Order: sequence, then structure tokens, then C-alpha cells
Amino acid sequence: LIGKTLGLILLLAIFGCREVPEPPLVTGNGLNVVLITLDTTRADHLGCYGYAKDTSPNLDALARQGVLFERAISSAAVTPVSHASILTGLHPYSHGLRVLHGLEENTLSTSNPTLAEILGASGYQTGAFVSAFPSGSRFGLDRGFQTFDEDYARPGSSPPVRSSGIVETGLNQRRADETTDRALRWLEGVEGPFLLWAHYFDPHDARLLPPRSYLQQFRRPEGSVQDWLRELYDLEIGFMDREIGRLLSVLRSAGRRESTIVVVVSDHGEGLGDHGWWTHGVLYEEQIHVPLIIAGPGAVAGSRNDALVRTIDIVPTILDWLEFHPSVVESVEGRSLLGAVRGQQAIPRLVAYADSLNVLTYRPWKGWADEKDEMLFAVSDGEWKYIHHRNREQESELYNLVEDPGETTNLIAERSDIARLMRKNLEERAELSTSAPDTDGMSREDIERLQSLGYVQ
Ligand SMILES: [Zn+2]
Repeated sequence: LIGKTLGLILLLAIFGCREVPEPPLVTGNGLNVVLITLDTTRADHLGCYGYAKDTSPNLDALARQGVLFERAISSAAVTPVSHASILTGLHPYSHGLRVLHGLEENTLSTSNPTLAEILGASGYQTGAFVSAFPSGSRFGLDRGFQTFDEDYARPGSSPPVRSSGIVETGLNQRRADETTDRALRWLEGVEGPFLLWAHYFDPHDARLLPPRSYLQQFRRPEGSVQDWLRELYDLEIGFMDREIGRLLSVLRSAGRRESTIVVVVSDHGEGLGDHGWWTHGVLYEEQIHVPLIIAGPGAVAGSRNDALVRTIDIVPTILDWLEFHPSVVESVEGRSLLGAVRGQQAIPRLVAYADSLNVLTYRPWKGWADEKDEMLFAVSDGEWKYIHHRNREQESELYNLVEDPGETTNLIAERSDIARLMRKNLEERAELSTSAPDTDGMSREDIERLQSLGYVQ
């Protein structure tokens, strides 16, 4: 009890003055935390979410050990903004990281602590292994991590797997096997409770493919370049899944699995042609509905929960599970899902929010470009979803997700009463008048890196 009280005082100290206290002191029950983020991974392309192909045997096994959330919604459909919400439990308008690119000061706001800062101040060893530039320190996502491994850019050293029509140009990312290797090396030297964040980037694009030995198991399907890119997308998910399985199996064989909370979530999905969009950056369900699996001591193994939840609910769930004081758990905008994870409590009706302040141009291959000059804001209660178009309000959209999960029939004219209420919800967040940071402050190096990922022209 004394330890917990002291831990709380130290935490209040970081909330107040933002200095990491010395000496560190372990708070709570000392469970470990492994947070795995799957970049660009659609929920409906995983076996445990009903996909017909066997893309995810290891994640499926994890789902059988924990709780699978059927309807988890991300805060954004671009990597840094979404990850900032996952790491802070805050909506984008509160954590301050609004767009993928922007002015130098367009980083995660320092006025709220990250999960890594909170756990680090409580004696945890904190390590992050990220696989690409958009989830790196440039955006402030390293805050609180004692080890932050973003050593992904190595010219010429990636295996040049070329497939017809696909030219590998972006080397500012690394494959799942290397990220798992590095995370495991770090874990070997860690004693006591730890927070590990492993970020996997493989499904993001076809510029860095799984090793040839892995791809040789599969045959290229007949058909269009789109068919082949969809197939590659699934193969990359499969390879990433294999490497996540390796990470989790080492945890198990080291006897650490029983004392570890494991959270797996995507930052966003991928269009793959749905709604006329190949990549990500807009707010339809295939892009912001993400897989979320939570396992750990006390979780009801193999259960599935169909309540609407948000990626901002991850941080408070972890803090609650680690027995942090309610004032810490409730200091963020998300809500703890621990009662549901333990099968003791239903989740109240929540509202999910997402935005996209500068929809970018992305050219996944020659002859195709995702382009939209728009600022998008979405709210959903799980039944109704409203997407506000800031630049062309007449194009705003309202869908009934129960009747029309594919978002094909815009009901904004028929149900203007509901649209008005949901628009009001956005106004109450002071969101509709916000403006997007521009690119004036970007360094040449930043622009070149983003270009090599295909984010800007
Ligand atoms: Zn991403």
C-alpha cells in the first residue's frame, strides 16, 4: 500500500511538472505490458474476424486466449495521428498530433503523459521497436521510452524482392522479422516489469516484401495488378503474424506470458479499392474499424465483445489492469474496458470520433492515385455514423451501420434529424473550425522520407 501511495505521488508529480522522478518505483501489481500495433491491417483480413483465408493463425490463437473486440474504432486513418491516440488514450484534438506531415511543432503535445511516461515513472523498463518513419520520434511518439529503436533506414540492405509491376523503392521501413529480432534481444536484458511496444509495418505497402523463402510458398494469382496487390497484402499480414507468433512464443517459453498483458491493435485499415480508395486516409469502416485483441491474466479466454470501443480505451484499460489509482485511469479520454475483459461488466454505449485533416495523395502504383482535397470528421455510436466534409458540406454522409455495414447508402437527406445531432456532437468538440497545419515547416529530409513511402507526390 505504501508503495502504491508513493507511486501515485510520483505520478501526480509527472502530471504536474513533467519530470521523471528518481529513483523509480514499481507501482501496482507489476504485470508486464506488450503492445503490438499492426500498421494498415484491416480487421476483416484476419481469420479471427472471419476472413476466409488463413492469414493470421497466431493472432487467432491469441484471440482464443483473450478477448476479441468486434467493433473497435481508430481515431484516424493515418499512422502518427492514430498511434498518438493509442499511446495516450486521447482524441487527436487533445493529443495535438493532427496530421502526418506538418510544421516542426506538429508533434504529440507534451501537456499529457504517454503510457510509456507513466509506466517509466513507476519503475517499468520501457522499450519500443518501430518499423517505419511515420511511427517514429519525428512525431514525438518516442516520449517516455528508455529504448526507442527506429533504425529502419538502411540503403541497399533490404532483400530486393521484385514482383511484376511492383518496384521496391522505399527502404525507410523494416520487416517484421527484424523488428521481432530486436525486440527479443532487448527483452533478454530486461528484468522486472516492462512495457514493450512492437510496431509492424509489413502490410503498409509492397515496397518491402517478406523474404523470398516465405513468398515461394504461394503462387501469384491470375488477374489484374489490383488482384496481385490484394494477394501481397494478405501475404504480408501472414508474415507479420508469423513474426508476432515468434515474439509471443519466446515470452511463453521464458515463463513471462502469465504475467504479461498483451494488446494487439491496428492503427488503421486499408481501402483496397473499397469506396474508390486504395490506401488509407479517409474514414470509411474498412479504414477505421480495426482489430483489437486483449489477453492477459484474468481475461475471459476466447470471448468476443460486440460493443463499440475505441483505440483511446487501450491506455486506461492497461492502467486499470496494473492497479493504478482511478485518478490516473480516468485522466484520459478513453474508458477502461477491464470489466469487460474480465467478463464482469458490460461496456456502456460509447461514441467514437475520428478525423482526417489533410487527406493526402498516395500513388500505390502507376495509373492509380488516391486524391481528395478535404477535411473529414466522423462520429459513430455503433448504429449511426456521420462523416462531415468540411470543405464541401453538401457531400457529408450518414450511414446506418446496422442495416448497411458497407456504407453504400447515404441517408443524410432522409435522416437529417440524426445528422444534425451528430454534427452538433462534432461542434461541441470545437472541431469543425479547426485548420490543418501545412507543410511549410517540413525539412527537406522529412519530405524525401515521406515521398519514399509514397505519401506525397
Ligand atoms: Zn499506419
